[in-house]
Amino acid sequence: MKTVKSAFKFHGGVHPQYNKELARDKAIEPIPLPKTLAISMSQHLGAPAKCIVKPGEHVAKGQLIGERNGFISVPVHASAAGTVKAIESRQGPAGSWADAVIIETDANQAETPPVLLAPLDWKTATKDELLARVNDAGICGMGGAGFPTSVKLSPPPDKHCEYLVLNGAECEPYLTADFRVMLEHADKIRIGVEIMRKILNGPAVRIAVEANKPEAITALEKAFADIDGNVEIVVLPVLYPQGSEKHQIYAATKRLVPPGALPIAVGCVVENVGTVAAIADAVTNGAPLVSRVTTVSGDGIVEPKNVLAPIGTSYADLAAFCGGEHEGVRKVISGGTMMGFNVPHLAIATTKTTSGLLFLTEKNIFQYSSEPCINCGRCLRACPMQLNPAGISRAVEADDIATAEHLGVMNCIECGACSFGCPAYRSITHLCRRAKNSIRARMAAEKAKAAAAKKV
Ligand code: SF4
Ligand code: SF4
Repeated sequence: MKTVKSAFKFHGGVHPQYNKELARDKAIEPIPLPKTLAISMSQHLGAPAKCIVKPGEHVAKGQLIGERNGFISVPVHASAAGTVKAIESRQGPAGSWADAVIIETDANQAETPPVLLAPLDWKTATKDELLARVNDAGICGMGGAGFPTSVKLSPPPDKHCEYLVLNGAECEPYLTADFRVMLEHADKIRIGVEIMRKILNGPAVRIAVEANKPEAITALEKAFADIDGNVEIVVLPVLYPQGSEKHQIYAATKRLVPPGALPIAVGCVVENVGTVAAIADAVTNGAPLVSRVTTVSGDGIVEPKNVLAPIGTSYADLAAFCGGEHEGVRKVISGGTMMGFNVPHLAIATTKTTSGLLFLTEKNIFQYSSEPCINCGRCLRACPMQLNPAGISRAVEADDIATAEHLGVMNCIECGACSFGCPAYRSITHLCRRAKNSIRARMAAEKAKAAAAKKV
């Protein structure tokens, strides 16, 4: 195992104010069990899980409450013992609504033993047993996208994973949850890597960490010191969006994922470090994914922390655990400031992908009115996907979605680097998102029409 500096820099990128010092030295702290949890059936990419419990039912921690409902889907488990009070539609961090199981938690959790899967020895378990475990434990990407991990770990028969890339970049401002997991649980990450290597038939491993996390690099070096095989820690330059899957692959392997393709097209699988630690827990301890570390930070929260909270904890409970809000909070963001979502209220609950919750006062938010593009070209230089954000945004404003599509808007990763540096304060990223949603809606309608025509 060796540590190397990445020799490859992707096009574009920006340097936002990181503000990580607010929470980086705060050890992971478990929250006292909230009185109520709201566990969404839709906290991963793909079809929501199918709820299998009813109001009035008593559930144990770890009990299956939502079944996987399709190929791109994952099961959901109860995060604590308690009584199901209701199944109701709840708003998620991104604003969409989905069924959630509302659990009133038992005051005495010891009365109901948790439901665990049988622990497995990863050295003797078969590849299929390990893969089934990743699925049964409800694991999805915890870095933000929520893609079902067992699907990612099952490349099509004609594809082979040559590189397993661990995403430890955490390039979003304020967020330090992954940093703390690397620092405090590097041993679990090592076990998770061994398990994934076995499932993927022994690819080389690249652990990608930004250079601004030297303590995490040291912890990983110690945990991986005696690992066999082709394993490297790749120290990445500090540059946003270094954590983007495609850019990380380039920085770690010099392979370029073609537009519209998945990482496996160039022999790579990327997984977030928190997810890798969750895989280790699921295999060695039989623990389903029922909690995660979330950074609660910003100048609007009394005591920024990295909180280990059961999935389904309300944002209000997280805020209270961190001492509550300071006066004058103007904006609450779920996720980081570059790609996160503004949240309208604190009844929203954590999901498997909630990496951060930020409380910002006027001092740290930027209010502006958009002005016409002055053709400075700054967004073109910043765009890591080498798009023409100025042209796309002008097309979308003119309702010319066809031109935006022609300019490659579907390759936009919504990183916000273009809007970040625009001197005319144009909402370029939002316009890209709008065009992508419109194109996806058109494609879905065309698919439905074609399916209906087939039936006739
Ligand atoms: S949001 Fe899209 S258009 Fe803007 S810089 Fe990122 S990838 Fe490029
Ligand atoms: S950065 Fe803003 S003003 Fe400059 S070209 Fe891009 S959209 Fe226009």
